[in-house]
Amino acid sequence: MLNKSLRKQKRFFIDRIAKFCDKCGSPYHLSDVQVIQEKGSSTIIHFSCRNCKSSNVASLVSPMGFTTRIPLNSDLTVDEFPKFASGDIISLDDVLEVYICFEDSKGCVKI
Ligand SMILES: [Zn+2]
Repeated sequence: MLNKSLRKQKRFFIDRIAKFCDKCGSPYHLSDVQVIQEKGSSTIIHFSCRNCKSSNVASLVSPMGFTTRIPLNSDLTVDEFPKFASGDIISLDDVLEVYICFEDSKGCVKI
């Protein structure tokens, strides 16, 4: 069960950042959105498509409302994010580094 504020927050992310999957155009649902990290004014959000399984990582910097979206074509699941999101600050560059490491199936020493 999602609490109300989290539902509201996820609805906002969907409305603001990505209503539909880039690849197949399926609409995102609240349960497809995971907040990976919230730090100060920046939030990192993971979108996963239930239809084609493609993933996007987005960052939202408020109050400017600046957003960045990066598609992830990997088997990295949202469950794996907390492993490297538990550090101090994670940037999108970090996400990409980890992603690249997983793609190579060599692990990543930076975690
Ligand atoms: Zn899709």
